Amino acid sequence: PRSGFCKSNSVFYSKRKPIPLPQTDFLDVTTFILSRPHHGKTAFIDAATGRQLSFKDLWRAVDSVSICLHDMGIRKGQVILLLSPNSIFFPIVCLSAMWLGAIITTTNPLNTPREIAKQIADSKPSLAFTTPELVSKLTESSSSLPIVLIDDEIGTSTKKKAKIVTTLSEMVKREPRESRVRERVNQNDTATLLYSSGTTGESKGVVSSHKNLIAMVQTIVERFRLNEGSHKFVCTVPMFHIYGLAAFATGILASGSTVIVLSKFEMGEMLSTIEKYQATYLPLVPPILVAMINGADQIRAKYDLSSLQSVLSGGAPLSKEVIEGFSNKYPGVTILQGYGLTESTGIGASTDTLEESRRYGTAGLLSPNTEAKIVDPESGKALPVNQTGELWLRAPCVMKGYFSNAEATSSTIDSEGWLRTGDLCYIDDDGFIFVVDRLKELIKYKGYQVPPAELEALLLAHPEISDAAVIPFPDKMVGQFPMAYVVRKAGSNLSEKAIKDFIAGQVAPYKRIRRVAFIAAIPKNPSGKILRKDLIKLATSKL
Ligand code: AMP
Repeated sequence: PRSGFCKSNSVFYSKRKPIPLPQTDFLDVTTFILSRPHHGKTAFIDAATGRQLSFKDLWRAVDSVSICLHDMGIRKGQVILLLSPNSIFFPIVCLSAMWLGAIITTTNPLNTPREIAKQIADSKPSLAFTTPELVSKLTESSSSLPIVLIDDEIGTSTKKKAKIVTTLSEMVKREPRESRVRERVNQNDTATLLYSSGTTGESKGVVSSHKNLIAMVQTIVERFRLNEGSHKFVCTVPMFHIYGLAAFATGILASGSTVIVLSKFEMGEMLSTIEKYQATYLPLVPPILVAMINGADQIRAKYDLSSLQSVLSGGAPLSKEVIEGFSNKYPGVTILQGYGLTESTGIGASTDTLEESRRYGTAGLLSPNTEAKIVDPESGKALPVNQTGELWLRAPCVMKGYFSNAEATSSTIDSEGWLRTGDLCYIDDDGFIFVVDRLKELIKYKGYQVPPAELEALLLAHPEISDAAVIPFPDKMVGQFPMAYVVRKAGSNLSEKAIKDFIAGQVAPYKRIRRVAFIAAIPKNPSGKILRKDLIKLATSKL
């Protein structure tokens, strides 16, 4: 069948209209985006400075930067690290590198030098792009990595210490050539290496191909085909994450819309940007929607948000309470949902109308070209409609695998190409997906990934801790925060504060442990796996 549930093989087929994808072998995502018609309008606006980048400026910049990268010796398959807050330059770096067939790896600007060093050791970049504010973090992480500075105003002290080879503005000045040289890029070549912890363990490089990105871009283009080019998006979600990279640096760009870029989320700035630029579309994560509901009266008194048509929520579950609360406070705004993973290039399911969103608790219908199975985690059997199990996805957007980690790849994607999402879901009679719980270890704090295994490894390195487990603790404002169960060594009086401080000194602020409980022993199954569900039950039993 073209859509719906097929009893004979227990597969759910997307009810959305299939999208044709380019079949040529040799195609890179940059060419795919650049070859779309854009009518010469504005691609990006920097909210803080008002600086604008037309589609024409952008293409010219990509031409120049890719030539410079080639001249610097960057070739297909080499990795380029991008450490930057959101900016109108972020897409230039990504598109230029990917045109050459180089691989972009991004990292959260909030990460500590220790965390960045770990990603550098794993992904082995040949070159990095960063901003003057972040360059010291990068030099602390790796002293030998050549750096291109995204700005030309650098202090002499930074210049001396960092191995800065040039600046992005110098690269952009370079005259484009008539004919450009590069190795041919195949759709199966790797385009990005974003980091995600997947269903278990620490952060791993998610290997996404040009084909994966092209399928994602085409899904977004089709989604906005009716209002092509007419939307003005406000980008406050991070471009280093698949949400921002998919929505803004590539997908929305290809749909010909204007993106107004905020370097990071700040409520007042976001609202005044909507008013100033008459923005129509606002992608967010649930905690920001909650804050917009709580502050609605003051917000509506201070800002004119009448241009806003839609708010898209993604990255974490959205409750009925929040959908209704938001619709009551902002009656003219349609609230939509998107569900996806880094491992599926951000694509999975979505609601496309308010009516679909009002099927409370749903993450939407399967995205076009996407198949799903609901698999019983105990028996491994595929289940029919309305029964809860792990959601498996198969789609052109599903990653190639984890970087240099065959074991994690084979336990996440099976031989038929099914991706285990680690999300506990059911699909109703009409094909709507409901995310019930998370089977995987992952904690999501304000939409950011916090892998418990990483915090557990740090806790176990403390001389007074003999065992530890980290679990998600539910919170209305942030979604979830990390809570630790700690077994102290005999004779230790280690305090909750000392444990929190010990972790806070080593990790990005969003990964901090915000609650600690002491326990005699961590509950484990016979093979030594932490029984997280038991600890979550224990921690939340008093709520
Ligand atoms: P990430 O790879 O950081 O995008 O995280 C992906 C995970 O975020 C998914 O596997 C879900 O657990 C969660 N997630 C993303 N979007 C939604 C959504 N709309 N509803 C519920 N959970 C979501």
